[in-house]
Amino acid sequence: MRVQNLVVNQQCYMFKKYQSCQIDRKGCINCGCDQFSQKSVIDTELAECWGLSIQERQWLDEREGHYCLGCKMTKRVRMLLWSIKKLSRPSEEFKVLHLNQTNNLSEALRKVGQLTETTYQPKEPLGKTVGGLLNQDICRLTFRNSQFDLVIHSEILEHLHDYQQALSEVQRVLKPGGIQIYTVPILFSRITRRRSKLDDIKRTIDVLPPSFHGCEREFPVVWEFGIDFFEEKTNGDDQIHFDDYWYNQTVFTLIKIKPG
Ligand SMILES: [Zn+2]
Repeated sequence: MRVQNLVVNQQCYMFKKYQSCQIDRKGCINCGCDQFSQKSVIDTELAECWGLSIQERQWLDEREGHYCLGCKMTKRVRMLLWSIKKLSRPSEEFKVLHLNQTNNLSEALRKVGQLTETTYQPKEPLGKTVGGLLNQDICRLTFRNSQFDLVIHSEILEHLHDYQQALSEVQRVLKPGGIQIYTVPILFSRITRRRSKLDDIKRTIDVLPPSFHGCEREFPVVWEFGIDFFEEKTNGDDQIHFDDYWYNQTVFTLIKIKPG
């Protein structure tokens, strides 16, 4: 029943705040190359842990493994760049914060404005420069209020117990009218499931068997987001950009604009 209602709701979104694009219509949005390749990224263990259908696995494989032969940018990152180009106003004064540096996006962001990029090294002091990147915890940023015109993060929230704090913290450091553009994996066929939680003394308790993202299983998954996350995040003035929802439901960005 709920799923049927969701279909209707999604159609409403199409008219309200859904924007469709075709990021590869004129070749790679980053370098113009029209040659792409596909590699398999979602392994069987992850697919089984996550409970993916065959189609969902194909969609996510395309999102993460369909890459430009010219610049190596994957489909998810090209989607991010589409939204960045659509919404930013490039200038020397335009201040961009790129949290936890996403593969192959840095060079494109340097063309948009003044770029600050971060890493997250929990054993190092926050605010310290580590390997040329500022050490930052997205839930406790060391920046003053209202510093940035644009903040980008990708595939971080599903690894945080308090993802709402991360979203609020990004809003805090945005200037009025500033833009937050981010991605998370969402499966529209289900509701959100939590794989782990914290006890009273902040130790991690597994609710489900541990699952990991990353090539070396380095990022434990806390949340597997579903349609309820999408509904919650697109409830206000937030926007969503899809590459082509009817072709692949997983290639999209979420956009949150700080009131001016
Ligand atoms: Zn390219």
